[in-house]
Amino acid sequence: MVSAASQLEETIAGYFDLADIPPIDRWAERAVYIPFGEKRGFIDLDETPWAREPINSLVDPEVLVEAGVYGSQLAKTTQATIVALGSVALLRQSLVWMWPKEGAGRSFSTGRFQPIVNASPELRTMKPDNHDLFKNLELHFRHGTVKFVGSHSRVDQKSNPVPVTIVDEIEDIAAATEKETDPITSLEERSKTFTDRKMFLFGSCLLESGPAWQQYLLGDQRHFLIPCPDCGTPQSLEFRGPVWIRNLKSGEIEQAGRSGDFRLWWDPAARIDEHNWDFEAVRKTAVYTCAVCSAKIRDEHKRSMLKGGVWVPTTRAKVYGHRSRRINSLYPVWAATSYAAFAIKFLSSTSSAAKLQNFTNNWEAKPWTSGLDISDKDAVAKRLGYILGAHARGERTGAHTLLLIDVQRTHLVWARFGFGDGGAVSLIDCGYTRDFDSLRELDDQLAPDFVAADARYRTQEVYAAVHERRNRWIAIRGEEKGAPLSPNYNFDPFTGDRGGRQGMFVITLVHLNTYSWGEEFLNRLYPAKENLVSYPGGASVATGAAAADPEAPRIRDFTVFGDMARTAPDFVRQLFSTFLIEYIDPKGKPRSRWKESKEDHLFDLCKYAYAIGSMLGFTRIAAEARKVFEAAAAVSAAKQPELSLSQPSGGTPIFRQ
Ligand SMILES: [Zn+2]
Repeated sequence: MVSAASQLEETIAGYFDLADIPPIDRWAERAVYIPFGEKRGFIDLDETPWAREPINSLVDPEVLVEAGVYGSQLAKTTQATIVALGSVALLRQSLVWMWPKEGAGRSFSTGRFQPIVNASPELRTMKPDNHDLFKNLELHFRHGTVKFVGSHSRVDQKSNPVPVTIVDEIEDIAAATEKETDPITSLEERSKTFTDRKMFLFGSCLLESGPAWQQYLLGDQRHFLIPCPDCGTPQSLEFRGPVWIRNLKSGEIEQAGRSGDFRLWWDPAARIDEHNWDFEAVRKTAVYTCAVCSAKIRDEHKRSMLKGGVWVPTTRAKVYGHRSRRINSLYPVWAATSYAAFAIKFLSSTSSAAKLQNFTNNWEAKPWTSGLDISDKDAVAKRLGYILGAHARGERTGAHTLLLIDVQRTHLVWARFGFGDGGAVSLIDCGYTRDFDSLRELDDQLAPDFVAADARYRTQEVYAAVHERRNRWIAIRGEEKGAPLSPNYNFDPFTGDRGGRQGMFVITLVHLNTYSWGEEFLNRLYPAKENLVSYPGGASVATGAAAADPEAPRIRDFTVFGDMARTAPDFVRQLFSTFLIEYIDPKGKPRSRWKESKEDHLFDLCKYAYAIGSMLGFTRIAAEARKVFEAAAAVSAAKQPELSLSQPSGGTPIFRQ
């Protein structure tokens, strides 16, 4: 048992020694010997130059957390191993290395870690004389201890505070503990007492909401820029979409290339039919293109490009000392990660969502999302094309109309829907309005059958506004659980009211399950079977009218006004920014999770339109629901005192008098 005083002494000694400590990468190249595999010998980090900076974070006083999102073949476990060895050998600090299960740590210890220690002369001398102190899960070196723990050994973790912690594959640990962020919190807890604490998180990501990607977002989001062999512009490599470059004229770090564009290219003629490719033709033609000069970059250029590689931050860290980085599998020089291998990996992953998710997470080093990338303007335009109606903005459609209101702190968002005979729903118009006064003006002007307002924010204001026009206005509350639709026709909004209104009037308040209706609407917004991918030169293979397109939605009962792209582009984004992500978790279980956006008001209004339209019998979802509603409303109206307010014209009264 080490006393607090001697621990402090060690910490202080370690602090003053820091100046004498060589960069960890240089030290590793002469001290760490790998006794197995093709690369047998002292570690050569020139092969993987991106690994140098994260390793050196161990002795960088500016870094508290080092969080990396890595593709496969990027030597992340090697990095973690060097950090662990550098910690006990050079910093003389103990560390904990967390694994999803203890058994994984044990087999890593016996199969990789201990063989490296035994094969490396400098490390071998740091082993204790007493072999009992060098166990599989707890390896005491002369000046520090490496401890491998499973993510479930909570009690054990807390009793062993250490200055350095390592996690490789944080998503797997989150899955093992059935929690998304908890393992990080518990790891942070245990190193709090150390002023020179360090946490290393190496992993591949799963979803944007997962711990790996969230830790990446907290940091300064570094990318590894390597110079184009032709124009010399330092740039990150991406399979598709924009890349980061250093502008050679201004010196600024900025983005280049469009979302949706492929940087890795192969001959589109290699496509045999919808599902099959001539891989030999792909292999022969696969080439990377510079985002700035479009020069063709080949595998043989990689090695010299990597020599000029440098990590650059692309944003300011949200938390002090939090360094983060992301690198994909286009970088390594190995045969398994050649541009052709990468292209073939992609093409052979397109047959299933699970394979495509694996490709996205482990090769592209990106979070998986099965929805539409709303930064990809072409993809959004194509998707919108499927739901464009024949009506222009503001042109009334259908037998019934509804006005839906989303109440924000500073303004209101509204959308007007038409309901046709066959259950077809169309978005007639949408916009913003200042307050409830201007909303009433809008109501008078548009004369919808009913108005439904979300009472989640500014609840009492909404109830008061609904009360004023309660024969046609409905208050709605979206709930995360419960029945899809639960109307209360006798809701007293003035319970506890001092103005004497309590018990005098009731309004209609509809509780609805926001996720049920979200799914209901998604089924109409997207086709039954979404085609998951596009290809380089895709325009030439995916031609044909939308009507004959297998991607087009099967249920054509939702349309938007035909000039929406031009007249309401911000609302187009709101429509597509929320969706359901279906994914395979690290345990191999299929799951789904909502991707929600703060700016998805129109999506909310559409799903509420389906809910309220269904309740009123306007849609074909539940035509009989209207009868139930009318019967209940009639009962409710019988209990109502005489309506004192003048009622605006134009709608069918809910409460028949
Ligand atoms: Zn170039």
